[in-house]
Amino acid sequence: MFQKILIANRGEIALRVVRACREMGIRSVAVHSTADSDAMHVRMADESVCIGPNSSAQSYLSIPAIISACEITGADAIHPGYGFLSENASFVQALEDHGITFIGPTAEHIRIMGDKITAKETAKSLGIPVVPGSDGGVPDTAAAKTVAKEIGYPVIIKATAGGGGRGMKVAQDEEGLEIAFRTARSEAKAAFGNDEVYIEKYLQRPRHIEIQVFGDGKGNAVHLGERDCSLQRRHQKVFEEAPGPVITPEQRAEIGGICARAVAAINYIGAGTIEFLFEDGEFYFIEMNTRLQVEHPVTEGIFGVDLVREQIRVAEGMPMSFTQDDLVINGHAIEVRINAEKLPNFSPSPGKITQYHAPGGLGVRMDSALYDGYRIPPYYDSLIGKLIVHGRDRPEALARLHRALGELIVDGVDTTVPLFHALLAEPDIQNGDYSIHWLEKWLAQQFGG
Ligand code: ADP
Repeated sequence: MFQKILIANRGEIALRVVRACREMGIRSVAVHSTADSDAMHVRMADESVCIGPNSSAQSYLSIPAIISACEITGADAIHPGYGFLSENASFVQALEDHGITFIGPTAEHIRIMGDKITAKETAKSLGIPVVPGSDGGVPDTAAAKTVAKEIGYPVIIKATAGGGGRGMKVAQDEEGLEIAFRTARSEAKAAFGNDEVYIEKYLQRPRHIEIQVFGDGKGNAVHLGERDCSLQRRHQKVFEEAPGPVITPEQRAEIGGICARAVAAINYIGAGTIEFLFEDGEFYFIEMNTRLQVEHPVTEGIFGVDLVREQIRVAEGMPMSFTQDDLVINGHAIEVRINAEKLPNFSPSPGKITQYHAPGGLGVRMDSALYDGYRIPPYYDSLIGKLIVHGRDRPEALARLHRALGELIVDGVDTTVPLFHALLAEPDIQNGDYSIHWLEKWLAQQFGG
């Protein structure tokens, strides 16, 4: 059993892991940059170690610094949270070499789901339906045209090494393809140091539906249904819910079963998310995230399970604490991502929090590392909190979200809270009638551009 876990992350997710450790009687170690010395995760953990300066490259992304912190504090295992080193196969390999347990999948699992082309090939070989497109990378515009003609326009050109919604270009026709292909390549080179791109059919009105899977590393795996994360800005999620408003129990059982069998077949260990675009009743794989997702609390809400506790258990070699039959959906959960950003441009708004009050009451969960007087540093992601509500059904969850947003106070910086007040007033949101393009169109109508 683990005595001590080091958390290689910051902000709300580091706090999330500290909480799970404390409930399990495991000591926690926070690591932090100099900018984060008075951060909440540092205050809440049992121990803390400063691992470097402000820049995440020299702190939260520094493998030697994190391994040293682990050795100094005598931690048995590392929880990576999401982002930073959570999907870095070399990091996991380095931990394996140092005899430190990584709370997550093996380096090999990360590799086969790592770059997008390899992931797509892996998914295909495991029987997961994928978006029609090129077989691997496309070398030049001539090859791009051939593929595009085969699958039909519009098409999307995506960077093999892409992530975080970057490195994607849509082409409506052959003429547009030439430009899109060249820009996608040069952007991919600049952003990821790798100019390989591939082509997919561009789906016109899909929803983003992702399946939560969980494996014990010994060939057993379950699925925990879906999350609908279609409300996106610049391919980044802002509002997530479970269950998905348009997914039937039959569709859930079918795609969930495919995903659970696929991860069982590779002895997958821990939490994973298989992301799909969903259009006209069909699922199309886009990628797998081999880690905990930002939006995992909506799944926890409807199933009443603690996914971080479960990750820690299987990393210790214990069995999962539930079977597929134990996993019964109860009600509806919604999460909104609260960022320190100024509308309408969503420009970062770091600074000092003069007043913070978290909402409470039945079915309300606020995952945030804010406190009165906290100064949000300008160096990291702008996510400052996640408000998650649970209700017996979707209308109750929406009403609760409205009520909880009204109670929330974050003064001193601008936040995305007004966006959610406005969204809740929209009939399409109330009815669950939205695709991945809905939010961008709505924002353009509201604010122009
Ligand atoms: P990233 O890893 O950068 O997040 P994804 O492949 O997961 O990239 O895609 C992110 C988002 O981009 C999707 O949720 C969807 O909104 C859009 N997208 C990706 N592929 C397609 C496609 N073939 N057709 C339409 N939209 C797409």
